[in-house]
Amino acid sequence: MEISEVRVKMVANKDDRLKAFCSMTVDNSFVVRDIKVIEGTGGLFVAMPSRKMSDHCEKCGSKNHLRAKYCNSCGAMLPDSRARKDVKGRMKLHADIAHPINAACRKRIQDAIVEAYEAEMERSKDPGYTPLDLDDYDYEAGVD
Ligand SMILES: [Zn+2]
Repeated sequence: MEISEVRVKMVANKDDRLKAFCSMTVDNSFVVRDIKVIEGTGGLFVAMPSRKMSDHCEKCGSKNHLRAKYCNSCGAMLPDSRARKDVKGRMKLHADIAHPINAACRKRIQDAIVEAYEAEMERSKDPGYTPLDLDDYDYEAGVD
């Protein structure tokens, strides 16, 4: 797997731990979007695109986010701590949509994303800098 390109959209809010959104192109042919660069206590880390996990209300069957206290649809009170816990006992509220399955691949992605983020950070210091609009990305390949 070759990471052909990484695009970085910086997030402006300085107080936020979320630093940037990225898209990554693999082998010049497959794009993964919504990769996040997050400032952790041990430095920058890369979060793969994920979705909020949900479960179904026992009374009406509607979907609710795992942290919801009441059902969005029928208002029934939902049981506490429905989320599974990870090894450190933290609630697992998100599931990765696309992710590496081994440490070597995770490291390659992490290194490529962080390198691209740092390069974009340098460019963003330029007064004439305009942030990238990742929403334009879909149409660039000229599919038709
Ligand atoms: Zn319900």
